[in-house]
Amino acid sequence: MDMMSAMQIDAPGSPLRLIERVIPKPGLGEVLIRVDACGVCRTDLHVLDGEIPARYPIVPGHEIVGRVVQVGERVDGIDQGQRVGVPWLGQTCGTCDYCRSERENLCDRPVFTGATRDGGYATHVIADARYCFALPQGLGDVDVAPLLCAGLIGWRSLRLAGSGKRIGLYGFGAAAHILAQILAWLGREAYAFTKEGDKKGQAFARSLGCVWAGSSTSPAPKQLDAAIIFAPAGELVPRALKAVKKGGRVVCAGIYMSDIPSFPYADLWSERQILSVANLTRDDGASFFDVVERARIQTVTEAFPLEKANDALERVREGSIDGAAVLVPHRQDGLTV
Ligand SMILES: [Zn+2]
Ligand SMILES: [Zn+2]
Repeated sequence: MDMMSAMQIDAPGSPLRLIERVIPKPGLGEVLIRVDACGVCRTDLHVLDGEIPARYPIVPGHEIVGRVVQVGERVDGIDQGQRVGVPWLGQTCGTCDYCRSERENLCDRPVFTGATRDGGYATHVIADARYCFALPQGLGDVDVAPLLCAGLIGWRSLRLAGSGKRIGLYGFGAAAHILAQILAWLGREAYAFTKEGDKKGQAFARSLGCVWAGSSTSPAPKQLDAAIIFAPAGELVPRALKAVKKGGRVVCAGIYMSDIPSFPYADLWSERQILSVANLTRDDGASFFDVVERARIQTVTEAFPLEKANDALERVREGSIDGAAVLVPHRQDGLTV
């Protein structure tokens, strides 16, 4: 029997462990994918730390790029050999109130790749064909991987932030480095807020088109129309609220955040809003990948072999990756080890 490898989390808090198992067969409506690259997302850390609902043992990873090697029965529109992307939203029920009102991101009975179904920290993965994305040409497997969550969530956050010109980005990691390019292409102004003293991160933000970059503890240089918070730090919410003008929105983009400290009601007054972004819809994917192609978005990545997943996650935790970390499950030359 043909075997596959994966990096598995046995229980919250235990490091990932290399396992081998028989390659599964795709069921009804499913495809078997050979994984060529899988992005490392901060959400994977929250799965590792047991901070969000997940099934254990679990193979994390929800920014999967690969080729379809076997197609199950009743699959339409995907062929063997095709390059596809598998995102966080692995499946929805199609019948709940949310699914029936074009809000499948809020489905009552969802399946999440790399949290409630095994994900892409592996040589092979099974996915529901209806939730796979066709990917834009012109970007390699490693480069396209971070678009599948960091890019998509940033895009959904921007849609919810509104059409204002000046947008604050709090936390300049994988998501912000993509969104900054989109904002510049749209002719809007991105203001990057990083950890205090992170000169390297601030220079990185400016190199990607941000009109200003500075510490999240310093006031914004101009009043912002909206702010998007990518860092999982609740204390950023009151700070961002102070930075947005009347009617402005503060969008919390992460799946997990530390508690938000109390703040004066006057800071919320004048129709300022705080909201969260949850998951994604397939429609987000369609509009996002269209923009990616037209705006010629490039990503900055650092690749790791599959068995170095623990190292990659720790680098994401300490915030020492410029752009995004990506696992490459099949041996390639030129990887950092
Ligand atoms: Zn549903
Ligand atoms: Zn993610």
